[in-house]
Amino acid sequence: MDNYGTYALTEDERELAGMVRAFADEVVAPRSYEADRTHTLPMDVVAQMGELGLFGLPFPEEYGGQGGDYFALCLAIEALGRVDQSIAITLEAGVSLGAMPVFRFGTEEQKRELLPDLLAGRALAGFGLTEPEAGSDAGATRTTARLEGGQWVINGSKQFITNSGTAITRFVTVTAVTGEREGRKEISTIVVPHGTPGFTVEPGYDKVGWRASDTHPLTFQDARVPEANLLGERGRGFANFLHILDEGRIAIAALSVGAAEGCLEAAVDYAQKRTVFGEALSGRQGIQFLLARMQQRVHVARLAWHHAARLRDAGKPFKTEAAIAKLTASDAAMDNARDATQVFGGNGFMNEYPVARHYRDSKILEIGEGTNEVQLLVIARALGVA
Ligand SMILES: Cc1cc2nc3c(=O)[nH]c(=O)nc-3n(C[C@H](O)[C@H](O)[C@H](O)COP(=O)(O)OP(=O)(O)OC[C@H]3O[C@@H](n4cnc5c(N)ncnc54)[C@H](O)[C@@H]3O)c2cc1C
Repeated sequence: MDNYGTYALTEDERELAGMVRAFADEVVAPRSYEADRTHTLPMDVVAQMGELGLFGLPFPEEYGGQGGDYFALCLAIEALGRVDQSIAITLEAGVSLGAMPVFRFGTEEQKRELLPDLLAGRALAGFGLTEPEAGSDAGATRTTARLEGGQWVINGSKQFITNSGTAITRFVTVTAVTGEREGRKEISTIVVPHGTPGFTVEPGYDKVGWRASDTHPLTFQDARVPEANLLGERGRGFANFLHILDEGRIAIAALSVGAAEGCLEAAVDYAQKRTVFGEALSGRQGIQFLLARMQQRVHVARLAWHHAARLRDAGKPFKTEAAIAKLTASDAAMDNARDATQVFGGNGFMNEYPVARHYRDSKILEIGEGTNEVQLLVIARALGVA
């Protein structure tokens, strides 16, 4: 056990974090610049993550998982986020948006059919919630699914969907309006396999950051899937995805802490090596205080995600703590990326330095899986003022 008190890591957890950190340094980092430059997800790296068991970390062994918990998954995501956010989000989305909805809400048959390949990293799945007219206001979903002759007929579009168009993407789970209940939209979630006629994965985006991560708009024009592809109870889609997003926020917080730490490490190293006015840059108190602030942010944000993940794994309420963790950690990543870039001076503006990539990558951490304004709304609701 280390000296984090309540937040101590077990031997197993420390070993896992060390193993993924070494993998990130030795296998992921050497590929990151080129993957970012060419907007290409290195699928052989994804395959190796599968072989290490990372996609199966928080799932039971009976479905091909590692029998670990969400905390373990977040440790792995943090270790990857330190060197490459695109790779870290591929794991985060692959697990919490791809496999977790099936594990949580799927029938036994759906779990047995869909989970083994996802948990082994042989397949990926996307989660399609966001639409051109429905992001933060996810209830504004316009995509529809109507039952016709034992099939769901899906029409509409989704945007910004992670892992939806890779060579190993097997399906996307989409939210769709399936009717009306008590004057309100009835929203359900439906599994749509790749290759379904009428389902098109549109060309990927030209993104500012997370450029090696796979993100696409999706369109559905009379796309038909069997009625049995409903995931979870009809009409529970809205509640189910809110739960999925709560968990995902802890994982995004862990990713953010990794990024914030990667920036800190790079800045400390650079400040010690760079000479200005005849002495090391790190000799200047202005720089020392900047680095100390960066360390403060990493520490506080890490405690925040540890706390939320421990609550979640203990089966206790964690919604507010997950929002606080995501808010704190994503701001820490963005602030540390900006400060690290400043320490690097002109070099910090050159893409060959990882801090420049972190600078571009970190902004989305304040937007994805619920913007930081949405996190503030969640916290305000818990206070009873919203
Ligand atoms: C790279 C990337 C990957 C993504 N991956 C996925 C994915 O896999 N699946 C998926 O479903 N989605 C995904 N998203 C979508 C992401 O979750 C949304 O972009 C995000 O939820 C914000 O929605 P929006 O873009 O529609 O912004 P909007 O909801 O239009 O918000 C615009 C601005 O208004 C603010 N705002 C909105 N409502 C309020 C309010 N009530 N009070 C105060 N401020 C408010 C927001 O905080 C934001 O600053 C991804 C996005 C990106 C960029």
